[in-house]
Amino acid sequence: MGLIPECDSEANALPNSSVFPVEPADCQHCAACCFSELARYVRVTGNDYARLGADAVAYVHFIDNRAFMLMTDGHCAALEFELESMRFVCQVYEHRPEVCRELERGSTACKGERHAKGDRSLVLLRRKCSST
Ligand code: SF4
Ligand code: SF4
Repeated sequence: MGLIPECDSEANALPNSSVFPVEPADCQHCAACCFSELARYVRVTGNDYARLGADAVAYVHFIDNRAFMLMTDGHCAALEFELESMRFVCQVYEHRPEVCRELERGSTACKGERHAKGDRSLVLLRRKCSST
């Protein structure tokens, strides 16, 4: 058994939930749309920036005078994985950018995100578990 018991069942930790075409029970079992290698992936408008408040300093960066959510390790910097609950958690959920709010779970865009990146959450989970 590993240091964190949940990691022993990592293969079943997100059962079919983050892999296309099965729809996850909730977004905290998926987070596919929060993953990208692109620095300009999550646009932050002026209203978004104001809504983020103090979190903007930690999570927003500027490219050519345009604001975007900072990306780290292949995903939005505001995305964290909680090993204890085995869930992905957006640290700014209540104040997240409009583009994140517009993506509805189960929509065509959501299915596209899961199809393209549905395995990235599992890859991240396995990496975190193997490093504990
Ligand atoms: S909106 Fe869709 S792709 Fe994004 S976390 Fe929720 S289920 Fe996953
Ligand atoms: S702000 Fe939250 S919902 Fe939007 S990409 Fe980042 S972690 Fe995901």
